Formats: sequence, structure tokens, C-alpha cells
Amino acid sequence: MLLMELLETYPEASFLKEKFPKLYDYAYFVKVLDWQEEYAVADKNPEVIDEIEFWQMLLESGLISKEEYEKLSSLPRYASRTEGIAFRDTNEVSFRKKRPSFHVIVHELGHCYFKEPDPTWNSTYGGGEWLLWIVLRHNLKGFTEEHIKNYMQLLKLNFENPQRLYEILTEKSLEVAKKFGIDNVKTLEELCMYCGWIPPQGDKTLFNQSFLVNVLSSIEYRDFLLLWLEFLRSLTTSGFPSLT
Ligand SMILES: [Zn+2]
Repeated sequence: MLLMELLETYPEASFLKEKFPKLYDYAYFVKVLDWQEEYAVADKNPEVIDEIEFWQMLLESGLISKEEYEKLSSLPRYASRTEGIAFRDTNEVSFRKKRPSFHVIVHELGHCYFKEPDPTWNSTYGGGEWLLWIVLRHNLKGFTEEHIKNYMQLLKLNFENPQRLYEILTEKSLEVAKKFGIDNVKTLEELCMYCGWIPPQGDKTLFNQSFLVNVLSSIEYRDFLLLWLEFLRSLTTSGFPSLT
């Protein structure tokens, strides 16, 4: 079966099609495989492997402690979330249930379309999927698949060159703040304080990550909405060719 045959039977699908037509149409290229119990096993499931690698990376870069790592990577967590699986190299997905939730379908379709692993895609980690759901939930105008791709490029940059991402975030956000008449802030930290956030101290990767999460949650919860919406738009409108 093609993923499209499943996707198009959901009432929410027409809205996805309207907002992200390229992603939606990509379901014609994705095959649904029968569920195998082995997909629930950690070493057979790319979702789980991505997640373990992500926590390991956080551990190695000192962003979480050994205790936190062990807590996060404990087994029950995986068992409860293997509702679906995506093989992004072969454009195949599989679902535990005959009729999975719309959320799970879009999650696996997104893996195939964007070719990104969970750390950059999964909404749980503040990945590109979160931006997609915000656009759908709040009917935001003018965000396309390209904006989501660009957002995920920034997340990747954060692990390769956090200092460079910090400079980009600073430049773009102060530029946008100025347009809103906020011209007495000189640094990203001061802008955070102005908007009522206490930015985390120290490590740039952690700072950038929580800054981006704060931007998305501000949009989700309507705090300084117009400022952060404009910032997100400006940040994700063009790619960053000079960075690659
Ligand atoms: Zn996933």
C-alpha cells in the first residue's frame, strides 16, 4: 500500500495538503510495510537508534549528566513510543496500528521527505516537526517546506559551530527587534531578558537550543507573538549557503 492511500482518508489531511503540498504529495512515493514485532526492538528501529545517538551526543558534549542519560535512555520510554517507523533511505514506513494517529503518519512521512533523523526532525527535541505543527495549529501564513528545511539547518549548525549560530541569531533578532522599536538592547541575552526569559548561562549549544525552543514556544503561546513570528520568518526564509 502507498502511504497516500492511508493519509488521504484522514479529515486533517486536506489542511496538511493546503499548507505543505510538497510534503503531502510525497506520500505517493512512500510504501507502507506490514508491522513486524522486531521494529519495536531498539537495535532494529532507526527511530530509537537516532534517539540513543542523540542522548549520547548530549552526554559526550557534557550537556546532560550520566544519571540523566540513563534515565532518558531507559527502555519503557522506547516501548511506549514505537508506534511507527520510517526507513528514510528506501521511503518505507510501518505502523503498529492499522489506523495510526494522524500525528504518527505525518511524523514518519516527514522523515522520508526531509531525510532527517529524529534529533533534527522530532518535535520532542524542538525539531522541524514542531514548526510544522505550529503552522497547522495556528494557521500561520507563509511558511513552507523550505522554511522547515532551513530551520533544521540551523539546528545542525548548532552542533557543528554553535558560535556561528549564536552570531546569526544575534544579528537577525536584533535587526527584527529594532523594527519593533526595541533598540536599547545590544545582545541576545538582553533581548531575552526584555522578553522575560532568563537565558541559560555558559555553553553556547545549550543557549542556542533553548533560545530556539523559546522562540517557538513564544509563538505557540502568543508571547511577543509578532516579534518572534517576524524573527522566525526572517531566520528561516533564506538558506545559509555560506555556512556549509
Ligand atoms: Zn521519528
